[in-house]
Amino acid sequence: MLEALHERGLLIKNAPHLVKDQAFIIPAYSWWSGPFYSLGMKIYDRMAGKLGLGSSRRVDKDEALKLAPNLSASGLVGGVVYHDGQFDDSRLAINLAQTASELGGTLINYCKITELSKGKSGKVTGVIARDQTTNNSYQISGKAVINATGVFVDDILSLDQKSHVKSVVPSQGIHLVLDAKFLQGSTAIMIPKTSDGRVLFAVPWHDKVILGTTDTLVEHTSLEPVALEEEIAFILETAREYLSKPPKRSDVKSIFAGLRPLAADSSGQGKTKEISRSHKIITSPSKLITVIGGKWTTYRKMAEEIVNNAEVISGLKRVPCKTEQLLVHGGSNRENANSRFEIYGSDSAHIKNLCDQDPSLLERLHPRLPYLNAEVIWGCRHEMAITVEDILARRTRAILLDAKASLEAAPNVARLMAKELNQDENWIDQQISNYSKVIEGYLLPKIT
Ligand SMILES: Cc1cc2nc3c(=O)[nH]c(=O)nc-3n(C[C@H](O)[C@H](O)[C@H](O)COP(=O)(O)OP(=O)(O)OC[C@H]3O[C@@H](n4cnc5c(N)ncnc54)[C@H](O)[C@@H]3O)c2cc1C
Repeated sequence: MLEALHERGLLIKNAPHLVKDQAFIIPAYSWWSGPFYSLGMKIYDRMAGKLGLGSSRRVDKDEALKLAPNLSASGLVGGVVYHDGQFDDSRLAINLAQTASELGGTLINYCKITELSKGKSGKVTGVIARDQTTNNSYQISGKAVINATGVFVDDILSLDQKSHVKSVVPSQGIHLVLDAKFLQGSTAIMIPKTSDGRVLFAVPWHDKVILGTTDTLVEHTSLEPVALEEEIAFILETAREYLSKPPKRSDVKSIFAGLRPLAADSSGQGKTKEISRSHKIITSPSKLITVIGGKWTTYRKMAEEIVNNAEVISGLKRVPCKTEQLLVHGGSNRENANSRFEIYGSDSAHIKNLCDQDPSLLERLHPRLPYLNAEVIWGCRHEMAITVEDILARRTRAILLDAKASLEAAPNVARLMAKELNQDENWIDQQISNYSKVIEGYLLPKIT
């Protein structure tokens, strides 16, 4: 917890264009819960110290309803307001990749590791990677090989040693995306203990609200995990308990599932949802270094520890880590505040220049989405986007904000990309068809 709070503070400093202060309210529905959660949040404030975002405070029923007008008023006695950070996760991933590239790293996209290469002593000396766009395979050598593949770490460990104890237990979490009217304010709601002991959040996100999450241990990993009906029912039922105007299935704009890579115990099992959420670094006899578990928020600290380990294990030159003080790409200023391009930080001026040269780039991709044509062009030219899904799911979050709208926008995105990437009509058709298959997992299934 302390580590995560420290890293959150560093992220606010190093990526100011992507992180914002988010106020949360914990509603109190019994006389004791207000003082109880208030004490808990005071400890949290103390732990955050100078890197905290604001002090927590108790509020009465009237203020609680002012901050979160859609909270159920029946039995409400007040609440506790506290602050946390919210970052734009897809933009952080892209900006970190750009930072690595600017510092001399070589980034490779759409390549799958299919084998590990080893020297005579059995030490891992590199990887064989298959380019998934051409099916060509390449040998890539390295003094150290780091396996940081999230829930897929065991697949890579199997390439190293056929039989090994399972190191990761995937835990699925889902979110439902709704219109902002289901929150009616900028304060998020946090329910610390739902009927089955889980935590539930309703958080403003872009111009929508996300409701989640769940914590379901699953057997199998997948690049596109699918929400389970029981997870959807849990979220909607809990929302009915706490919101005066709760969402119906038909109000859900998009649904998405993710897998948390939790570290398994020594028998390769996960017992409960209380399995450790912190990360673990393991070194195989072949000197393959694997990182398991951890949080997005602590990515920097994890990377620092892994690289320090690699220096010792693989005899690399020792270099002090600089990332505590390193600005993330785009983070040097907050140009074009309050404009659509603010999230691009220092890149926003360049995107604006593109629009000055071609005003059609200021048109929206879809009336129900905030994104502009210019973002497609920028993604192709500067962010290695090569598919419609790259743009609609990973450079922007269109697929998560309104899955149907993003599908309707796909033909326009494909045409803009085709021009930029010099592709033909067949490519456009193929991209639209691929995207319509992906979108199925993001629409709420109808109950028959
Ligand atoms: C519902 C939910 C809520 C969460 N909330 C938070 C939160 O509030 N705060 C927080 O800090 N964290 C949160 N997390 C956790 C966080 O999102 C994860 O810990 C993080 O995404 C894991 O990142 P990763 O890079 O380890 O794995 P991933 O993001 O899964 O990336 C692994 C990558 O490895 C690639 N890969 C796999 N196999 C191969 C191969 N053979 N060759 C090449 N590449 C390969 C995959 O394509 C993928 O890109 C949440 C997670 C979930 C699911």
